[in-house]
Amino acid sequence: MVDSFGRKINYMRISVTDRCNLRCRYCMPEEGVQNLGHGKILSLEDLARLARVAAQVGISKIRLTGGEPLVRKNITGLVACLADIDGIDDIAMTTNGLLFPALAQDLKDAGLKRINISMDTLKEERFEYITRRGDLSSVREAVFKALELEMNPVKINVVVIRGFNDDEIVDFARLAYDHPLHIRFIEFMPVGDLLFWEPQRMMNSDEIRMVLQNDYELTPQKAIEGNGPARYYKISGGAGSIGFISPMSHQFCSECNRIRLTADGKLRGCLYEKQEVDLKEALEREASDEELRELFWRAIKSKPARHNMDSGWGQQNLRKMYQIGG
Ligand code: SAM
Ligand code: SF4
Repeated sequence: MVDSFGRKINYMRISVTDRCNLRCRYCMPEEGVQNLGHGKILSLEDLARLARVAAQVGISKIRLTGGEPLVRKNITGLVACLADIDGIDDIAMTTNGLLFPALAQDLKDAGLKRINISMDTLKEERFEYITRRGDLSSVREAVFKALELEMNPVKINVVVIRGFNDDEIVDFARLAYDHPLHIRFIEFMPVGDLLFWEPQRMMNSDEIRMVLQNDYELTPQKAIEGNGPARYYKISGGAGSIGFISPMSHQFCSECNRIRLTADGKLRGCLYEKQEVDLKEALEREASDEELRELFWRAIKSKPARHNMDSGWGQQNLRKMYQIGG
């Protein structure tokens, strides 16, 4: 389906839970997190039904996210249901990786094709600091498990935070040089009005690229399989690649092909847009598929032309990143 600005919308990110086994400083507060209760969260059956309806309005690619998608019970069963839907040809996941090694083979067998693993630092103490818990060795294990299972492409998400991990940019590039990994440097975004956000902590993609150019020769490359807005570069002589996701410095809104479904059943046209369409309420009053399709169309048609991150998160935008699905 095409939105009001001529963009073809074929990609839905589904947040399957607002729960997480980490507390990353840029995503979640440390204390006072009140997770959605059982009745407030979409059941796996609801998620599968909504994905089926989404496929009818033109969604062909799904990414499972959260919170941490792997803490959701029977996530493997959900992947299997999604893989059975006519019209869905790509199922991917973004995860912190902690629970991935134990579930990896089952997820792959169920139909999970690709995986993005978030890893902001290669140093154990820094990892503990940024995630407020968590053990880096399990994430490393997840990365190599994904490579072993050939879940191509294996992408690593690195949120670059000045003064925290900007001195590791070259080390991450080395990882992509040595292994067939796609390292994606993400600009830090002021989502969720968290105290950790400070404008001077945001390092833009051009600055990151400059750091790399002293050590590596980067040549622009066509997009790696996926649906994202990253711009990719091949590292001369290396096994993997480097990508830049630049929501702050290079808006990619004109090419945006996505909608987002939150764990509590709200459809959002944009990460930054407060407007939501309530699918959970429709499911509770036993809406027909036809009605649900209308609601998808409504959300797609009201997708804004661009995000407005420059004007701040805003008081009415009550959600934080883990409650939307990054
Ligand atoms: N728990 C999973 C994980 O960490 O990969 C999935 C959910 S997480 C919200 C999805 C992605 O959003 C992660 O790669 C995370 O680093 C990124 N993210 C969260 N808050 C962010 C922020 N303020 N700026 C940029 N990226 C952010
Ligand atoms: Fe959890 Fe992912 Fe947010 Fe970290 S970024 S707190 S792992 S949801």
